[in-house]
Amino acid sequence: MKTDHGERTLTLLGTKGGPALRTPGVSFLPTSNLLCLGRRKIIIDCGIGVTQALVRAGHSASAITDIFITHLHSDHVLELGGLVHTAWTSGLQHQLVVRGPVGTARVWSHFLEMMEVDIAVRVLDEGRPHLCDLVSVSEYDEGVVEENSDFTVSSLRTIHPPMHDCFALNFISEGQKICFTGDTAYMPSLAGFAENARILVHEAMLQSGVDNVTSKTKNTDERLYRHLIASHSFAHEAGRIAHDARVELLVLSHLIPAERSIAKDDDWIAEVRQHFSGNVIVGADGVRVMV
Ligand SMILES: [Zn+2]
Ligand SMILES: [Zn+2]
Repeated sequence: MKTDHGERTLTLLGTKGGPALRTPGVSFLPTSNLLCLGRRKIIIDCGIGVTQALVRAGHSASAITDIFITHLHSDHVLELGGLVHTAWTSGLQHQLVVRGPVGTARVWSHFLEMMEVDIAVRVLDEGRPHLCDLVSVSEYDEGVVEENSDFTVSSLRTIHPPMHDCFALNFISEGQKICFTGDTAYMPSLAGFAENARILVHEAMLQSGVDNVTSKTKNTDERLYRHLIASHSFAHEAGRIAHDARVELLVLSHLIPAERSIAKDDDWIAEVRQHFSGNVIVGADGVRVMV
């Protein structure tokens, strides 16, 4: 697929909830998204596999212009350093802007420290610009995150204990709103935040997924079950937000379970239909929708 300069699309790069990759032959990755708004190529979250998924979707790693991190759980940030470093070795020449909650700058500076031998060698031996000069990291809180000529971004703190700094993000561009919930328990105020969105990407789980994950993960205890229930949303709750917000399209992502052998698309949609009769996509890696 050739990339188009005027492309306005959302590509789901990783749609699995949680960091584990335990199912052999899996075709889904932890959370990452690509939002193309004309000349801006924006990554939302950097779960492991984001770089390869981006290239598979038809984009050079060096083409990305902006990265937003919703929170510092590893399924959203583990490959931040790897993505940016690969953008650099792929020919990055423009300034890359990374925005994330408090702690993101530290994640980045520690990555630079971890890779200091490689980075120094590539600057000296290959003539590359200094990586740290190409990347700016800024930390955001609730409110307006970014305003530029291509889009504006605002954030809303979600309910995702014990993470205090987890944010839903609204991107508004050319009069259209694309809302990403990040990770969140059912939160009625999200409906106001996502009101009239063209696309709402909402995290979602099913009870079968919660049961499966907690029984399969051998190195945790009952706290994992309690975390999932306290900090994430069921699919019918995502449907309720979509209904109350009157969104055009609901995209379910951060799926627990992502395995279609455990839950088929119809199982997800049946839950959503308790509250929402509009357009629904059950997320899968590589799915692309027009913005
Ligand atoms: Zn997550
Ligand atoms: Zn999380």
